[in-house]
Amino acid sequence: MPRIAYVNGRYLPGTEAGVSIEDRGFQFADGVYEVCEVRGGRLVDEGRHMARLDRSLSELRIARPMSAAALGTVLRETVRRNRVRDGIVYVQITRGVARRDFPFPPAGTRPTVVVTARNNDIARIEQMAAEGVAVVSVPDIRWGRVDIKTVGLLPNVLAKQTAREQGAREAWLVDAKGCVTEGASSNAWIVSADGTLVTRPLGPDILPGITRAVAIETAKALGLAFAERPFTLEEAYGAREAFMTSASQIVMPVTRIDGRPIGGGRPGPTAKALRRAYHQQAEIS
Ligand code: PMP
Repeated sequence: MPRIAYVNGRYLPGTEAGVSIEDRGFQFADGVYEVCEVRGGRLVDEGRHMARLDRSLSELRIARPMSAAALGTVLRETVRRNRVRDGIVYVQITRGVARRDFPFPPAGTRPTVVVTARNNDIARIEQMAAEGVAVVSVPDIRWGRVDIKTVGLLPNVLAKQTAREQGAREAWLVDAKGCVTEGASSNAWIVSADGTLVTRPLGPDILPGITRAVAIETAKALGLAFAERPFTLEEAYGAREAFMTSASQIVMPVTRIDGRPIGGGRPGPTAKALRRAYHQQAEIS
């Protein structure tokens, strides 16, 4: 339970914070969210996260509840009140509270805004990065607009649970053509047998990860051979390296897919180099 949560203009103890049972986030998953890394008490890539939030809101025609500057102030204050140094800040915006009915509620219905923040166990994440993690593949059963960062995450929940039950950290989602789309809460990458860094191109079938975007810039700055193209699960099995990216774990080496060792079962040089260089490329504010 977060100690202090921001809810619609007020900072409340987590035990008192809540939203209506008529909130459309609760009723229909009619809402969007962002997760921004906090490092040394500062926000990483706030500008890009706010831009993606704006895009998610406009794709769903949810009114923007406050300016990016005002929201930035709320994010920082929530981080400060929860004494977060290294962790994440979470913001969720829903279409608001209205009598349960599928079409959009009357114009003027105020969106719900919730912000929470928490520290992460950095030592544990670093240990996982040093050792590498396991992933398992599951069919991608999500809807057709997963480029919008909505709170409708049930397929992701089920995929992640399958992973946990098989002793894996993440699930890689596989489309009808046998290609990996992304992870349940991360973007998926390989270093192909010929040494090229590969990740799937942006489209309606993956989330445009902020960490993905910054990792691409980092790869270019490091002069790595890079291609944006779909890759199959079979190709991933035979890859030199595999890894995943997300705001809460940055670049996380994957050393097992469906029980098969990748790259000799140890984190590879590309993933390590990207992880090391990442925060020189990111914007920290
Ligand atoms: N894909 C999915 C499905 C995700 O949930 C996330 C993390 N929220 C990502 C990718 C990674 O995005 P980011 O790098 O912006 O955290």
